[in-house]
Amino acid sequence: MARYESVLDAIGGTPLIRLTRAAAGLRPRVYVKPEWQNPGGSVKDRAALAMLRRAEADGTLRPGGTVVEVTSGNTGIGLALAAAHLGYCTVVFTGSATSKEKRDQLAAYGAEVRLVDAFVPRDHPDSMRSQGVKFAAETPGAWFVDQYDNPANPAAHYATTGPEIWADTEGAVTHFVATVGTGGTISGTGRHLKDISAGRVQVIGADPLTSKYAGGDGSQKYIEGAGHYLHPEAAADVWPLSLDTGVIDEYVAVEDQDAIDAVRLLARTEGILAGGSAGVALAAALRVAADLTADDTVVVLLPDSGRAYLSTYFNDAWLTANGFRGPAPAEGPTVGDH
Ligand code: PMP
Repeated sequence: MARYESVLDAIGGTPLIRLTRAAAGLRPRVYVKPEWQNPGGSVKDRAALAMLRRAEADGTLRPGGTVVEVTSGNTGIGLALAAAHLGYCTVVFTGSATSKEKRDQLAAYGAEVRLVDAFVPRDHPDSMRSQGVKFAAETPGAWFVDQYDNPANPAAHYATTGPEIWADTEGAVTHFVATVGTGGTISGTGRHLKDISAGRVQVIGADPLTSKYAGGDGSQKYIEGAGHYLHPEAAADVWPLSLDTGVIDEYVAVEDQDAIDAVRLLARTEGILAGGSAGVALAAALRVAADLTADDTVVVLLPDSGRAYLSTYFNDAWLTANGFRGPAPAEGPTVGDH
């Protein structure tokens, strides 16, 4: 279907793209799912729309109401675009680490962006979350979205992302790899793939080395939309309700440098420009694929595009200044090679 009657209908339905060069030498087929093809530019459009529709259906969000969320980017963008289309106001509480591009995108949809300190512990009265909860409680007609604890978040992926992968691989998928933020993507997609394959599909959570999910001390954690994994996250010690730990067969812990190398390799050898968390997922997937056979099919979900990371992961000066290595020699041809 290539014609939609509204932007909301254009959410979901992203393709699978087979990796050839980046997966060279590996036995299984490896496909990526580029979620930036959603209208807001990330996987979070799916959850945003589902959470909003659920709130409308149960009467929490009424005409003229205000959508309030604490987010560092992509979820807010999905909410803001859906709210703009449906006539709601949006107020987003976000940290200064959120890129200017993402804040500007939120404002472009008419959302009000309130900058707050992202590094105050979640239960503290001044935390991003506490401020969002308080604002929503004090504002008539406001609805606090709460993506970390909202069952409509994983449900969106159970209903859409999982079935798409199953249909597009014609049931051949054997391994699904995704990052774990709120856990919505991996829980909903993974649960669907397990249900429909009678448990055959293996679900792999890719996470930064020191993240608590991957068994680390929680000192580093992916911050949605922040662009990298270098900061401790206030909420890293919280296990979200939207994460169904029972669905994840294995966690693969990924070093920042390996994630950076993977995402740059993808751009230079496949022509696919993906974002920071996509690098984490891809690095984990390539590691898993190395032990698999030609009968396996690996699907890797890439949450957002590299467009928001051109001044970081794809910028040699930024990499060097932050203690990372620039392009690895194997990344691609050099001018004059023949
Ligand atoms: N990567 C990016 C770029 C994201 O915005 C998010 C959303 N937090 C994730 C990964 C993780 O997705 P989820 O919240 O569904 O676990």
